[in-house]
Amino acid sequence: MNPSPFLQVKGLTRRYGGVAALDGVTLDLARGQVTGLIGPNGAGKTTLLNALTGLARPESGTVLLEGENVTGLPAHVMAGKGVVRSFQIVRELASLTVFETLLAAPPAQSGETVAGALFGRRKWWAQERANADLARALLERVGLVKLADQPSAMLSGGQKKLLEMARALLMKPRLILLDEPGAGVSPPLRLEIVRLVRELKAEGLSFGIVEHDMHLVEEVCDHVHVLAQGRALVSGTFAEATADPRVVSAYLGVA
Ligand code: ATP
Repeated sequence: MNPSPFLQVKGLTRRYGGVAALDGVTLDLARGQVTGLIGPNGAGKTTLLNALTGLARPESGTVLLEGENVTGLPAHVMAGKGVVRSFQIVRELASLTVFETLLAAPPAQSGETVAGALFGRRKWWAQERANADLARALLERVGLVKLADQPSAMLSGGQKKLLEMARALLMKPRLILLDEPGAGVSPPLRLEIVRLVRELKAEGLSFGIVEHDMHLVEEVCDHVHVLAQGRALVSGTFAEATADPRVVSAYLGVA
């Protein structure tokens, strides 16, 4: 039996100047599963994550969350509905301790308006005290609790990825969208990330993962969508999708 769709994307478009970053993307993310979003550079994967989390407003198309139309809702509203994406630990945060970085308001929990930004931040800070206990538990969970008082700048690439995941988890998501969790990660921490994703999935969390590391995709994803030139080209298991000649062509740049 197929799992019910948690998030449905229908005909989503978003242009930047003359470039169609999303050119009518249609795909589903299943509840309780790990869905890989793969494809060559510039395929539109990050733009799709942004469009699903209120950071890039789609020009047309629809996003349904459990059947509810959530198209173009700002980031803090999407987060409130349980849809959260991970953000890189940017340089400004690296001067904070690991614990402070975890608690710092995520960027653009606001959508694209100033009013939204103010609302999102006020709400976040009001919750900060309540978040502190959860933050400690999350640091424990991702294996960074011993580094809580160290500057984030000290963290390795993999530790930063784990902290990014903890920051997303602090929002208590139901669907978590990860942008390249395996990039710049050493083998032991890569194992840790795989373990964590599997464990969270077993607890009922749904995932969408943008990733270029095909071994990681194969290890954790139940299903993949291959994007190319702003469109969803092929869907299936990792083995099915990567065996498809259209996917091979897209990666070779001849699609
Ligand atoms: P990669 O795997 O290289 O990260 P991607 O699949 O995530 O690529 P996107 O980053 O979504 O692709 O980019 C899709 C297209 O949209 C690219 O041609 C990119 O240059 C363009 N694009 C994305 N964001 C912007 C922006 N803010 N301004 C202008 N062009 C953009």
